[in-house]
Amino acid sequence: MINNKEENPISEFSLIAGPCSAESYEQLEQTARFLTKFNVSISTSDYGASLSESRRPIKIAAMRAGVWKPRTRPDSFEGHGLKALEWIGRIKENYTLPIITEVANAEHVEQCLKCHLDMLWIGARTTGSPFAVQEIANALKGTNIPVWIKNPLSPDLGLWLGAMERLQKAGVQKVGAIHRGFGLYNSVPYRNSPLWELPIELKRLCPEIPILCDPSHIAGECRYVPELSQAAIDLEMNGLMIEIHPKPQIALSDASQQLDFDGFESMVSDFIFRDPFSASSRLEQYRTVLDEIDEELLSVLSHRMELIRQMGCLKKDENLSVLQLQRWKQVLNRCMDLAKQKDLDPQFIKEVFSCVHAESVRIQNEIFGKSK
Ligand code: PEP
Ligand code: MN
Repeated sequence: MINNKEENPISEFSLIAGPCSAESYEQLEQTARFLTKFNVSISTSDYGASLSESRRPIKIAAMRAGVWKPRTRPDSFEGHGLKALEWIGRIKENYTLPIITEVANAEHVEQCLKCHLDMLWIGARTTGSPFAVQEIANALKGTNIPVWIKNPLSPDLGLWLGAMERLQKAGVQKVGAIHRGFGLYNSVPYRNSPLWELPIELKRLCPEIPILCDPSHIAGECRYVPELSQAAIDLEMNGLMIEIHPKPQIALSDASQQLDFDGFESMVSDFIFRDPFSASSRLEQYRTVLDEIDEELLSVLSHRMELIRQMGCLKKDENLSVLQLQRWKQVLNRCMDLAKQKDLDPQFIKEVFSCVHAESVRIQNEIFGKSK
């Protein structure tokens, strides 16, 4: 698996594509044939390369195909199971393409190892269950198959990290992450909310873990897949896992989000890889000023919290309560009015000040000797 630290981001970019579910030998065969021949060059013109070097080929790292499908509701198509594994075995005899599928328990792992699958992924519903992840980790002991872990349905970074740790502790050497969005109540216009800050935080905490983005499961509809893919590329993710199908309209699962082959090809050829280090000097000037402003913001916050501490001591001496709802309402209304005058979104300011207020209350509670 890739190491996202030093290598050229272009050559190590992993593109995994294939159907949501393995539906028939013919469907897998058509997809494998398409992916084996797939050969588009992508624009790297923003890399500052000379014209002749400005387009580079992009390769397919693996074909995906779901064998066992964890469906939200019963009576949906739940995958062809062992029959699908047999088809995959035949594809592997005829094509050199690596193949990846989803495992949700120890038996799936055993069947996949028997069938010489090249990589595995753990789905979002399974990542959310530490017992299931531990069972999979135990079944993987002593193997060296790469395993990708999708984020859990809920935006819980700890649960995602915990799943990776369970595999690493079981001795799995090649562990990667897949960002597939989060199942929040309101994710409009997408099926799942991307909450990009979570994979960004994961990258900050574990720079050695490669992260793929699965824009298909974020999008829910194929028209959103290109913009989400480009956003993931711009965030320097290490690759993409995309659902494609020879005839998406008749797919047995996730029909509305699977691209057809032409759509996939045209999307990939429109990808742009920008050099994260080649920002123009004008942009650099802005960044310098932004750094200064951030320092000012931090100084102002530090000053505010110092006053909050002094007020906390005073409130304690005068036997007043920490939280004074009336005063908090006044502060919030005043800041939201000021926000409008300063051309700032009042909703944004409400969120910022709610956070500042929560920290102020925490500090004063500490002075009162309470933990909350
Ligand atoms: C899938 O990849 O088809 C799948 C079921 O994904 P997720 O676990 O992200 O819902
Ligand atoms: Mn799917």
